This record gives sequence, structure tokens and C-alpha cells, in this order.
Amino acid sequence: MQEFFDEGELVAVLTTQPLDRTLDYRAPEGGCVPGAFVQVPLGPRQVLGVVWGPGKGDFDLSKIRPVSRVLNVAPMRTELRDFLEKAGTYTLTPLPAMLRLATRAPGLGDPPGMRTVYRAGDGEPSRMTDARTRVMDALAEHGGAALTMKEICDAAGTSSSVVKGLVKSGAVVEESAPRDLPFPRLDTGLSGKDLTPDQSAAAGTLAQAVKSGTYGTTLLRGVTGSGKTEVYLEAVAACLSAGRQALVLLPEIALTQEFLSRVEARFGARPAEWHHGVTMTERRRIWKMVGQGGAELVVGARSALFLPFRDLGLIVVDEEHDSSYKQEEGVLYNARDMAVLRASINGAQVVLASATPSLESWSNAEAGKYRRLDLESRFGPSRLPQMRAIDMRAEKLESNRWISPTLRAEVMKRIEAGEQALLFLNRRGYAPVTLCRACGEKIGCEHCDAAMVEHRFLKRLVCHQCGESRPMPEICPHCEAEGRLAPVGPGVERLTEEAQEVFPDARIATLSSDLFGSARALKERIEAIAAGAADLVIGTQLVAKGHNFPLLTLVGVIDADLGLQGADLRAAERTFQLMRQVSGRAGRADRPGTALLQTHQPEHPVIRAILTGQEETFWQTEADTRRALGMPPYGRLAGLILSSTDAQEPMQIGTTLARNDAALRAIGAQVFGPAPAPIPRVRGRHRVRLLVKAPKGAPVQDAIARWLAPLTLPRDFRLSVDIDPQSFL
Ligand code: ADP
Ligand code: ZN
Repeated sequence: MQEFFDEGELVAVLTTQPLDRTLDYRAPEGGCVPGAFVQVPLGPRQVLGVVWGPGKGDFDLSKIRPVSRVLNVAPMRTELRDFLEKAGTYTLTPLPAMLRLATRAPGLGDPPGMRTVYRAGDGEPSRMTDARTRVMDALAEHGGAALTMKEICDAAGTSSSVVKGLVKSGAVVEESAPRDLPFPRLDTGLSGKDLTPDQSAAAGTLAQAVKSGTYGTTLLRGVTGSGKTEVYLEAVAACLSAGRQALVLLPEIALTQEFLSRVEARFGARPAEWHHGVTMTERRRIWKMVGQGGAELVVGARSALFLPFRDLGLIVVDEEHDSSYKQEEGVLYNARDMAVLRASINGAQVVLASATPSLESWSNAEAGKYRRLDLESRFGPSRLPQMRAIDMRAEKLESNRWISPTLRAEVMKRIEAGEQALLFLNRRGYAPVTLCRACGEKIGCEHCDAAMVEHRFLKRLVCHQCGESRPMPEICPHCEAEGRLAPVGPGVERLTEEAQEVFPDARIATLSSDLFGSARALKERIEAIAAGAADLVIGTQLVAKGHNFPLLTLVGVIDADLGLQGADLRAAERTFQLMRQVSGRAGRADRPGTALLQTHQPEHPVIRAILTGQEETFWQTEADTRRALGMPPYGRLAGLILSSTDAQEPMQIGTTLARNDAALRAIGAQVFGPAPAPIPRVRGRHRVRLLVKAPKGAPVQDAIARWLAPLTLPRDFRLSVDIDPQSFL
């Protein structure tokens, strides 16, 4: 490949604009390298782009304009360009959209801004107060590095006036420093915990793999609390020692302070943190530093996968089975699968960690494509919870009550013993349905074919599809009857109401994503609960992930059957994972835990597998079923959603597509549908689905591209292709 373009040479530039090709420009004064980030004129605007290769020369040469300027950031490395191309081909996403994923930080071209920072000076303050001592300690702790005012105040728990007083006396010096500073170096020389023989063997294998500098994927399976995190932090240490960068992906929801503190305890400094709550300035800093090697470890949500790492040697995907790794909007990609792709291009290792792996990863390990490491027991004295079913057919329960007498008695015991209990119900809000007792109509969303969910705390009805909300009405919107609206079914808020009656003296905390204004408020609440601020926690799947509640000894699942309804391909797998995950919250410290599952079908194979914990048997059975049906991971699926504000068009176009399926048949694939989507209308758009099913190994993307090529879409019509769909809604 050409290594430099001289001034005036034609270069092809990929921009972030929705065009399906690169555009030719002339290399600017001083020339440029392939991969250079540039600003180019496009019509009247200046847009961001990357020099993708030599120009194609298929455009009127006299009209070709020069690149406006080359940005002062590390050029995109060949590996990342390769990754974007392959990921784009895999997900059938045009390259500009892939480039947008890789440039999700604002102001990349701006000159580095300055900010005021503080460090310890030589002066002596006239008088030392407690607060002043804490400030000086905070500065000393950071080894002479300069801190911002906010960082000092947070660390020392003081106000800015204390710091300013110290500046006057010269004990603290104020200076101006570039904003985009490197992250503090991580110290791999600090020792980690003393690992158990099991853990140590696993950590050794991973470290060895990382040192090899080649690609490989390992499934690290171990029950919650078995020390997977401790083990993969050793792989991170090996990677950093080898001078390469590491990325730890966590489901957004599990990005807790607790985790960051553990990294800090292991390496003496915090990693770069990348998720939706990070400020734009910080994003830009991370993006730049990752490219220059000024950030060794990034802990982030799925989109961190598209950061421009200088030399990525390890990607950990924690809770690899988590469905939130699949991005369901915009570019439909699965971060777990893309992590494997990126690592294979970079000569990096992947660690997929989970207590309940996805069937995909389990079967890849079975097939020998992934290495598999198992941690069999929990660390230390903590034991896995005992699991039992509560047969709801045998329980006496009044209507509109969900806590069975058996569960109630068990919760009482824990509360009296000063322990915590958790009631799990994976439903936000007060009641999933509001019904009028006069006319029998449900209150639905105006824009979606979905019931509005009552959120009593907000005194509103909310559509969980489009987010639309309105005040709780007094009269029925259909028949105008007054005072006849009734909630049907439970949500966590309603369960809380019941719990308050049943356990009047208990301190009850409800954890649901919608009850907290900010991620910070939620984090604080979780920390308080972990420290013992509640006797009974009532939560949605928010509590199932990543949080440690040491006092928690009982988990009661209100409706274990909930996820088994519906025809989702992964209903069994998801229920198994979620139930095991939630149950794993009980008994993490030195107290044994119990998990009780309320169910109407205790003999259901999935419920039995959950209770007995025979995971291998469960996976084997699940694998056999899927294999027999040619379903993933033993066959390929692609979903198509056609949508339009027009009620007829999606079905018409879907029918045309289904009839002209020669390109699919050529690879042995079948097309099912068109059928109205399970939620036929969302945000005012009518939705129709098609499903393509192909043999494993068949070139599905290619066939789909050929199948769709002749199609011209009417105005306001959208077609999205979901390769390896997770959601069928
Ligand atoms: P997992 O990631 O599998 O859920 P963790 O790595 O979070 O497990 O370990 C569970 C708890 O046990 C953590 O508090 C962790 O610090 C502790 N732990 C695990 N292994 C060790 C060890 N070898 N020495 C000391 N503490 C450990
Ligand atoms: Zn809606």
C-alpha cells in the first residue's frame, strides 16, 4: 500500500456523510499519510473524513478540491480501517456509518484547550486546618500530578475556597495545562490478590496467551463470585506489561464505582472510563489518548470497541451473554462478536467472562474454536445459594397480591436476622396494563400498538416503546367513565406497595432504572444499600448485574415464568441466565444464600435446570434443540424490518421481496414472512418483518445484498437488516 501522498496527489477520502462511496480530493500542502484524519470541503460545508487510499480519478479532475487540513491526531491505523470495513460488511452497514461509530467524540480537530490545574508548591500556609491537610494529602497522593479543582474538592471533601487559600500562601500552585492529558500510568508492579490454585491456573493460561501476541478467544466461565474479575485483571496486567493496551467491556449498567475502585486497587490508578455518562470533553480526551498510547486501559460500554487504539492486545467482554451488547438502533452490531473480529485483526486476545455463557460462546468452545476455562467454586467461605421453587398452584394468594405466604415467611426471617432480602420482578412501573372496568378497553399508546404502563411514582402513563407519556387520566379515554380505571398485573412499584403492607417495619428500597434522575443518584443509592441502608430491595433486572450486596441472603423471584412466555428463540436461554444471575446475588459474603422462585410450572425443563444448576445438561439440551431446527448457533438468521408511516407499503414491499428470493435460494436460504411485527406499530410507523434462515457457513450477507439490490424504496420507507438478531419484536 502507498505510504505517503505528496501535495496535489489524488486521495480517496471517506467522510462521515451518508454517501455510499469515498470522494476524491487533492492531498494538502505538506502531503498526508493514508489513515490521516482530515477536514474536507463538501458543498458549502467542512466535514470530517479519513484518507482511505489513492484517489479513484473517476471525477472531473478540474473540479477536485484540496483537503482543507490534516487534523492533529494520530492517523487511523490499518487495523482499525480493516476492522471497520469487515464489521461493515458483516452487518451490511455502509462505511460512513461505521466511521461515525469510530469518531464519536466532538471537536476532534480543535486545538487542545487549556484548563486550570493545581499541584503542591513550596510555600507554607500560615495555619494548617483539617481541610487544608486533606487538600495537601490529596495532592501528595497523586504523586505530584496536577489535579483540577473538582478532582481536589472531591478527593479532599472540601470547598474550592480552601484550595484558593492555599494558593495564596504558595502551598499550592495554580497553573494552566492542556486539557487532553494522558491518563495516569497503571502500575503492573503492584501485586494482585493471592489467587486460589484454580484462579491462578486460569490467570496463568490467560497471561501466557496474552504474551504470545497472537489472536485467541477464551471463554472464562465461573459462577458469580468465583473470582473471574480477579483472574482477568491478571490478563490485563500481562497485557500492560507487554506494552499493549487493554479494553474491558461491561454492560452499561454494570459500570460501577465498585469495579473502577477494584482496578484502582490493583493498578494504583483509575482507567479511562467510556460510557454514555462521560462528558464530551472527556470523550475527546480518551479518544485522542487511546490513539497516542496515553491511555493503557479503557473500561467501557460496547461503543468503546470503536476507539482508535494504538496497540490493542486484550479485550475482555464481561457478562458476555448480556443482551445489551447488541446495539438495537442505528448500526445493529453485537459488541461481543465484533470484539472477536477486532482482536483477530489486531493479534489480540479476547476473554469472554460469564457465569452463564451464551449458547453461541458455549458451542464455540465445544467446537474448539474458543479455549474454555472454568472456575468451579465461589471464592472463600461463600457458597452458591440454595435454589427452590415455590409452587404457586399450592399457595393461597388473594387477587392482586404477588408475595406468596411461603416467600413472605422467608423474607421475615431474613429481616429479623438483620440480613437483606431481594424481591425480583422484571417489570418497570406500577402496572403493565390499565383497564377501564366500564368499557373493558386497555389504555394504549397513540403512536404504538402497545399498552401504556402506569408509573404511579411519576403519576403518569408511559409507553415503553416510544417513551411517550401523559398524566394519569381521571376518566376513561374511550367511554369517559369516571373512576373506573384499574391497574392489571404487577410492576415493581406495585410490588413495593404490597411489600409495605406486608412488612410494615422494613426499610424498603426500590431499584428500577426509571426511578432515578441520574446515573450518579442510582450509583449512590446502590452503594447505600450495599452498606445496609435497606432491609428489603425490590428491583428489576437492574439489580441482576454486577452489584455486590454483601448482606443479601435471600432472593425471591416473583414470577420465574415471565420470560418463558412468548416465542423468542432464546426464551429458555435468557430465563436460565437471568434466574441464575439474580440468584447469584444471594449469599456473597460469609452468609449462605437462598433463592426462591415463584412458578406455576415447577416441572418445566428450564425451571428444573435452573433449580438443579446442571448447566452442562441445560446447554446440551438447548444445543440439541437448536441444532435440530437449524437455528443459531447451528444456522444463520437475519431479520428484516420494513417500516413506513403508510399502513400498506411495508406489507406490499415485503411480499415482493419474499416472491423474488432467487438470490437467497441460491445459497440454500429460506425466507419467512412477511408478517406484521409483534408490535406492529411503533412511533407511528407500521412494521413488517421478514426472517431469512440460512445454513451455517452460507454467505448470507452477500446473498442479502444481492437480494435487496434491485429494490427502490418509496419516500419515508425504512428497511433495516439485522444480522444475527437478538430481538424479534
Ligand atoms: P466474579 O467476577 O466471578 O463474580 P469476583 O472476581 O468479583 O468474582 O470475586 C468475588 C469476590 O471475591 C470479590 O470481592 C473478590 O475481590 C473476592 N475474591 C475473589 N478471589 C479472591 C482471592 N483470590 N483473594 C481475595 N479475594 C478474592
Ligand atoms: Zn408509544
